[in-house]
Amino acid sequence: MSTARKIRPLVAGNWKMNGLKAGLGEACKVRDALKAGGGSAGAEADVMICPPATLVAALAQDAVGSRLLVGGQDCHAKASGANTGDIAAEMLADAGATAVIVGHSERRMDHGELDAEIRAKAEAAHRAGLIAIICVGETAGERAIGLTLQVVGRQLAGAVPKGATAANTVVAYEPVWAIGTGLTPTAADVAQVHQFMREALSKQLGSEANSMRLLYGGSVKASNAKELMGVANVDGALVGGASLKADDFCGILAAYCK
Ligand code: PEP
Repeated sequence: MSTARKIRPLVAGNWKMNGLKAGLGEACKVRDALKAGGGSAGAEADVMICPPATLVAALAQDAVGSRLLVGGQDCHAKASGANTGDIAAEMLADAGATAVIVGHSERRMDHGELDAEIRAKAEAAHRAGLIAIICVGETAGERAIGLTLQVVGRQLAGAVPKGATAANTVVAYEPVWAIGTGLTPTAADVAQVHQFMREALSKQLGSEANSMRLLYGGSVKASNAKELMGVANVDGALVGGASLKADDFCGILAAYCK
């Protein structure tokens, strides 16, 4: 399946607000599995962990010389300023991150983030030399009344910057109702949304969209990864709960081994 892929997939783990220094051992096990290669090491994908901001620098240090990439979970649109408690994209880059998630549904819901702000955060990521992982996805209510494509289309139009390229931007389709619930859309539903996203991004960005990575996120685990990652236009996964334990995460990475 994956040897014919033109787009190198990305599997990114989002630790959310989980993890103390002691928990970095799990990330180090993933790092060591990638180093060792073989069976379940996700050799045909880029692999990233996005720990809480407090652990970005330490994990980046632990990851030096390995294939493990480190990302942040959010950033402010500005490079500096009177913004108590916020973190600039430049600070994440300085700490060793190479990417940052923006527009996660938990940020949209818990912090009232709207597409314009998410776009500004993605632009900040680009300014700092980071890959912006832009999340989109419909709620259960929106899905129930047939608004999935409309919502995803509106979020793409509003949150993806004009200057987005395949090198600096990843889009993650994360149906809100699938996050942390154990529920997933069918492969056919994922295929429909990802095809729609590819076409919508082509209209927005031209040929850059052809090679932009489109991740699926929402209750991905070892047992469903191969099927979900095998869907057309799915170029990897954004993983929450199952990224916290190395064995679970490596089980997902196994979808991308020779
Ligand atoms: C997420 O929050 O980005 C996510 C995909 O979570 P989970 O894998 O736990 O559903």
